[in-house]
Amino acid sequence: MTRFYLTTAIDYVNSPPHLGTAYEKVCADVIARYHRLRGHDTRFLMGNDEHSQNVFKKAQELGLEPLAYCDQMEEVFRRTWARLDVSFDDFIRTTEARHKVGTTEIARRLYDAGDIYEGVYEGWYCVSCEEFKQEKDLVDGNCPLHPTLKPEWIREKNYFFRLSKYQQPLLDHFAAHPEFMQPDNRRNEILRLIEGGLLDVSVSRAGQSWGIPLPWDPGSVVYVWFDALINYASAVGLGADPEMFERWWPADLHIVGKDITRFHAVFWPAMLMSARLPLPRQVFGHGFMTLNGQRMSKTLGTIVDPIAAADRRGHDPLRLYLVKEVSFGGDGDFSWERYDERYNVDLANNLGNLVSRVASMAHRYRGGRLAPAGATSDQLARLAEQVVADYRTAMDGLALHEGAAHAFRLVDAANEFIAATAPWALARDPGQSDRLGQVLFDSAEAIRLASVLLEPIMPSSCREILRRVGADPTGVSFDRDARWRNDGARMLLQEGPLWPRVDTDRPKETTVTDNPVPPDAPSPGARPPAGQVAPAAGSPSAAGPAPAVPVASAPTADRISIDDFMRVELRVAKVLAAEKVEKSKKLLKLSVDVGSEQRTLVAGIAEAYEPEALVGKTVVVVFNLKPAKLMGIESNGMVLAASPDGGTPTVVTFENPPEPGTRVR
Ligand SMILES: [Zn+2]
Repeated sequence: MTRFYLTTAIDYVNSPPHLGTAYEKVCADVIARYHRLRGHDTRFLMGNDEHSQNVFKKAQELGLEPLAYCDQMEEVFRRTWARLDVSFDDFIRTTEARHKVGTTEIARRLYDAGDIYEGVYEGWYCVSCEEFKQEKDLVDGNCPLHPTLKPEWIREKNYFFRLSKYQQPLLDHFAAHPEFMQPDNRRNEILRLIEGGLLDVSVSRAGQSWGIPLPWDPGSVVYVWFDALINYASAVGLGADPEMFERWWPADLHIVGKDITRFHAVFWPAMLMSARLPLPRQVFGHGFMTLNGQRMSKTLGTIVDPIAAADRRGHDPLRLYLVKEVSFGGDGDFSWERYDERYNVDLANNLGNLVSRVASMAHRYRGGRLAPAGATSDQLARLAEQVVADYRTAMDGLALHEGAAHAFRLVDAANEFIAATAPWALARDPGQSDRLGQVLFDSAEAIRLASVLLEPIMPSSCREILRRVGADPTGVSFDRDARWRNDGARMLLQEGPLWPRVDTDRPKETTVTDNPVPPDAPSPGARPPAGQVAPAAGSPSAAGPAPAVPVASAPTADRISIDDFMRVELRVAKVLAAEKVEKSKKLLKLSVDVGSEQRTLVAGIAEAYEPEALVGKTVVVVFNLKPAKLMGIESNGMVLAASPDGGTPTVVTFENPPEPGTRVR
C-alpha cells in the first residue's frame, strides 16, 4: 500500500492561532484527506513548538511554570483544529520525552560526524525572532521585522554546525530532485541562497534552562530552530522505535510557510545528510493570508480568529474558501464580505441549491426513489470522466484550488443539464417517463460524484450530501466511488437547505450557520409515533411474513403473550446502500431508510446476497434492538431473514412494498 507521511510547521505557543496559521493546517488536512480517499496509508503530523524563549517569558509574565502554560496553549490549539475539522493523526509537543530522544540522537550524530565545533558568537540578536542578525540586515539599527525592538549585543559560547560543508551536496540534491522544493519560484530563491555560499550556524544557546540539553555539554541547550525541525523525525520514533522510524521516514511532504522554507530546504536537509538519514521527498512553501490586503498583525487589529470565521458560516464553507479562493503556493486575501459572497455563490446558490432541487424533483415525480431507466447522459458521463482525471492531476500536483474548481465544473454541468432537459416539462408527458427518470438519476449521480471529489475539502458536508442522494457516506474511496455510474436504485432524502442564503447587505452580522449534523451523529428523539392502533389478537392484519423465529412446535407453556410480541418493534425499511464488511465472509453493512431516519446495520447475509442486489429492496428490521458493534461497525437494528440450519438465509421482503417506516406486526 502506498504510504504517505505529511507534516505542517509546528506552532509557537506564545499566541493563539490566527487565520494564517489555520490556512496552513486546513490545506495540509485537505492533502491528508485526499490521500486517505485514494486509499493510501496516511500519517498526518502537527504539533506545537514550545522551547522558545518567548514562550518562557510569556509564561513568566503570567506567573506560570512554562510547561503549565504550554499545557494550556495546547488546549487552545487543539480546540481550534477540532473546530476546523483538521484530522491530524499525531500531535507532537517539543517538550515531550520522545522529542528529547530524537533531538539528542540527531545532535549526537552530527557531533560524531565531526560537524559540530565550539566557537564564540558575538553579534546582534533579536529576542523576538530568536535569531542572530547580521549588521547589514538591520534597518536603522533595528530588526526589520521588529522595528520597535532594539536587538541585543550578545557574546556567548556557542556550538556551530558546519553548514558550509553541505553547500555542494545540497546543490547536487536540488539538481537531482527538482521536486524537492516547491513551488518553483521559491525553489529558485533557495537555490540562489545556497549558490551564494552558506555560513556555519549556531545550534546551541549557553546559560539557559528552557530547552533540550546538549548531550556532550549539558550546560547548553539545543537552539530552538534546530530542536523544532527534528520534531518530524522524533514523532515517528527516531532514536526510540526503529521499526516505526523505518516505516514512516522519510516524510513525503513538509508543508511550511514561505518565511521558513530556508530552514526546511537548507538547514534541515543538511542536518539529515550529516546524520546519515534520508531526506524528505518534498518541501512545499505556501503563501500568506492577508485581511483586506493588509498583513495580519495584532497591532494593526487585522487578526482573524479562525473559530469566529468557522462560527459565522460553518467550518466547511471556511475550508472551501481557503482552498478554492487562494492559489496554493501564492498569497491569498480574506475579507468577511468576500467570504459571505463566495458562500452564497458556491454553496447556497450552486451546490446546496442543486442538492435541494434534485431531491425535491425526485420526490415530486418519483416518490424519492431514483433508478436508471435507460442510457445515461453521454455528455455528463464524459465530462465527469474528464473532471475526475483533471481533479486527480491537480491534487497530485498540490494545485488544491484547481482540484476544487474541477469538482465545481461537474456541479455547474449538472445545473446546465437540468436547465437543458427541463424535467418539469418531461413530467407533463407520460411518454417521457423513462427519460424523466434517467435525467433525475443522472443529476443525482453528478451530485454524488462531485461530493466524492469535494470530500477532502468539505468532509462533513459531503458525507451529508452523499447520505441525501442515497449513497453510502462512510468509507468513501476514490478508486471505487470517483467514477460515473448508471446502476443501483437510490432513495433521495428531502431535507432542509444545506446552506441557507445569507443577506450580504449586512455583512457584519454573524449568523451562525453551522454544518449539518454528520450522519453518524445520534439523532435525538427522532422517532415518531407509529400512528397505528395495535390490532386485536388474532386480527388478520397481524398476519404477515413470518419472522425467522422457530415457532412451529413450541409447546403452549412456552408461548409468549401478544404484549410480549408487541414489545418488538418491526418496521418496513428500504435498503439504500450495501457493501461487504472487510475481513468478514458473512457480514454485509447496510444503510437503510426506516422512515424516520437512516440507519446503518450489519446483517449476516453476505453468503446469500451480492451487496448490489439488495439496494432498493424493501425489508423488515427490528427497530428497537439495542445497538451492537460487529467488526467495529455499530449495527442499529436487525434484518429479518429465514435462516434454515446449514442453509443460506433468505431476507423477508414484500410483493407490494409498503412505505419505509410502516410497522410490521
Ligand atoms: Zn526580530
